[in-house]
Amino acid sequence: MAKEQARKGPALSTGTVVRTERITPHMIRVVLGGPGLTGFPAGEFTDHYVKLLFPRPGVSYPEPFDMAAVRAEYPRDQWPVTRTYTVRAWDADAGELTLDFVYHGDTGLAGPWAEAARPGDEIRFLGPGGAYAPDPDAGWHLLAGDESALPAIAAALERIGDGVPVRAFVEVADAAERQDLKVPGGAEVVWLERGGRRVGEALTEAVRALEFPPGEIHAFVHGEAGFVRDLRRYLRVEKGIPLERLSISGYWRVGRDEDGWQSAKREWNREVEEEEARALG
Ligand SMILES: Cc1cc2nc3c(=O)[nH]c(=O)nc-3n(C[C@H](O)[C@H](O)[C@H](O)COP(=O)(O)OP(=O)(O)OC[C@H]3O[C@@H](n4cnc5c(N)ncnc54)[C@H](O)[C@@H]3O)c2cc1C
Repeated sequence: MAKEQARKGPALSTGTVVRTERITPHMIRVVLGGPGLTGFPAGEFTDHYVKLLFPRPGVSYPEPFDMAAVRAEYPRDQWPVTRTYTVRAWDADAGELTLDFVYHGDTGLAGPWAEAARPGDEIRFLGPGGAYAPDPDAGWHLLAGDESALPAIAAALERIGDGVPVRAFVEVADAAERQDLKVPGGAEVVWLERGGRRVGEALTEAVRALEFPPGEIHAFVHGEAGFVRDLRRYLRVEKGIPLERLSISGYWRVGRDEDGWQSAKREWNREVEEEEARALG
């Protein structure tokens, strides 16, 4: 990131909805375009994400919109509400940014926004951020997540070359939520159906039952924070995998909206790290 950009904070863009598609009953694809995306700097990571900005009802912001000015001049409870979404794809030639939203009912902001989105609607967002791309030198890849991590898992699968072993585990609500993914030659994708079970239970069981292929692992494990915590303990403590071979974090938390989860996350992560340090002695 350029020094100037780092000083100003993440870049602000405005996207215009080009089209939407319900790819499964509970996954809505929104493709954004428009001149506001020119030069959008995505591509390095397969887990690039953006922070969508939802204006607070009844609050008017200065135009042209400037997030730094909003932060400086408005009380925190009037800042736009943020929701984080993975860049499922960025097509620089077409200038199109694809985001896939889990539609988890009428609750929340982002899911219902995606459901109601129509061509021409505009949305502002910050980013992209990102940190993970499959290591081309890894002996094998473990990819595991629920629906919220499926966009990043799908993007990672598209990046991994043929012939490298990949074990991908994706937990979805039911068979109708499976997607056709472009998978490399060495990949085995296991779809797990949650049914009535707690989110992540089937996924945790499946990863624990996996016989690890030989070679150095590179793992990507994301989704609901409770199962991510369980799998992190397993991979770190029982399998002895060093942190630098893991991309692992909670994307959301049952019973908390994103604001609630983000504000609890630091304390949550501290507990996870302390527990891990004790277990590792
Ligand atoms: C780096 C990163 C990348 C992410 N990428 C994606 C992505 O590509 N696609 C995606 O759909 N999500 C993604 N998420 C997760 C997403 O940001 C959260 O699920 C977010 O809470 C959804 O916002 P909302 O306004 O729909 O619901 P909120 O207002 O945040 O929450 C309302 C209620 O819905 C529940 N809820 C939230 N998410 C889910 C869910 N997935 N399933 C069931 N219940 C839920 C909450 O626990 C809460 O009770 C990502 C998160 C991070 C941190």
